[in-house]
Amino acid sequence: MKGKFIVTITPPTPNGDLHLGHMSGPFLAADVLSRRLKQQGYDVLLVSYADDYQSYLPRKSKPLRRQPFEFARLVRDMMLNTMALADIDIDCFLQASDSDDYRQAAAHYVTRVADQVVLRTGKVFYCASCECYGYEGFGRGHCNWCGTSSDASQCEHCARMPDINQMPSMTCMSCQQPMVETSVEQYVWRVGENYPAVAQVHKNKPMRQCLSEYLDTALSDVSEVWPITRPGDAGLQLDQLAQQPLHTWFMGLAGYQACVSSYLREHPERGSFAHWWNDQTQLIHFLGFDCSYSHAIGYVAQQLNDPQGPPPGQFITNRFLKLNGDDFSTSRGHAVWIRDMAAHYPADAIRLYTALFAPETAVKNFVQADFDLWFSSFFTPLALAVDAAGHAVLDAGDVEADPFDSTEACYQRWCEHASISQFSMAGMADALCGISDLLLGRSAIQSPKNWLRWAEMAQALCPQLAAIIYSVRAQ
Ligand SMILES: [Zn+2]
Ligand SMILES: [Zn+2]
Repeated sequence: MKGKFIVTITPPTPNGDLHLGHMSGPFLAADVLSRRLKQQGYDVLLVSYADDYQSYLPRKSKPLRRQPFEFARLVRDMMLNTMALADIDIDCFLQASDSDDYRQAAAHYVTRVADQVVLRTGKVFYCASCECYGYEGFGRGHCNWCGTSSDASQCEHCARMPDINQMPSMTCMSCQQPMVETSVEQYVWRVGENYPAVAQVHKNKPMRQCLSEYLDTALSDVSEVWPITRPGDAGLQLDQLAQQPLHTWFMGLAGYQACVSSYLREHPERGSFAHWWNDQTQLIHFLGFDCSYSHAIGYVAQQLNDPQGPPPGQFITNRFLKLNGDDFSTSRGHAVWIRDMAAHYPADAIRLYTALFAPETAVKNFVQADFDLWFSSFFTPLALAVDAAGHAVLDAGDVEADPFDSTEACYQRWCEHASISQFSMAGMADALCGISDLLLGRSAIQSPKNWLRWAEMAQALCPQLAAIIYSVRAQ
């Protein structure tokens, strides 16, 4: 076996099922790269978890009159089913609130950076009538860096961590009334002390341009601090932080580590934890651009203070998908649910279209009518041709046709985008559609060699169609 990779998906909040916005972001991309790495013979774990310590969860469960973690368990099961419907082949999708591994890993990273953590009094906002603080999902103001509407945790637009001392006001998301300013004692991490070393880690690492530009500005202030506990919030309470809730953004790397340890305990045939969680394993993180601070700065700083485990990995960011021009929103129900799509269309069709129009470096817009047209005019004829080609591959044996090798250019383009350093599922999908058009347009080049090449290119994107070619071949 070649080397080991741990591929991670930013944990979704279990406040509703997965929609096309999730899929077009980290979920499908991480699955496609994992499948591609396995195709090349690497040993791969694909992991994520339900983000039970996110304050959007109690915000959702409270009006439903449900206990947050009980509700989260039901939603997590729903998400797992949805991933199965989309053929997202995840190894572990942990329930954070049920996991001792998660608690231990979180405590581990707190210990690693304890020298840089201090207790101090900080400004927060509070709504007396709703009895809630303005953390995360409960309050919104304006980002002091870019001016757009944001919570106090991380700005969805510019991905910076807003400086709450420079946010003049905040609105309560439960009652829509202004929140009042107050102060709490909280633990803050002098994370900026690590910035020069974090910048060094990222130097010469492949990444999308928006992330490199972001890091250039976000790593400039070495005096920056990151409040890591939020009295009155939904975080995880640990003795070493005097039971103050540790917020979820600090714990992502801990969550991924917990996924690996709990998965391997149940699957010892895949190797031991020490076998995986060491400096030979490569981490690849898929994340929305708005999670850049926690992942590319916070977790890298945690890793630099930790002699164990894999070195800082690679960060593959995405922008957002819109639906008919408006943001996807679980809380407002403005979404295309994957389970609904999967009830009407083959998983391969949903995967290929989602990959093709993935918002990798720019915001994209989903329109159902465009998908329907693409499905009937492109995907359906392709799937029928693959059904027929399966038998052609079997009948023709290894005959070499197509001396001009007209599919070579598509294949080379696909290879480039299927590599780790230049990974792009949109680029892979575009090349696959390109070779599909060539084969469907000229039956003369539908040679076994070209269909096998097609299957190689399709395997990570359209696993069911690729399997038709391979299974007939194997008979
Ligand atoms: Zn901003
Ligand atoms: Zn309120």
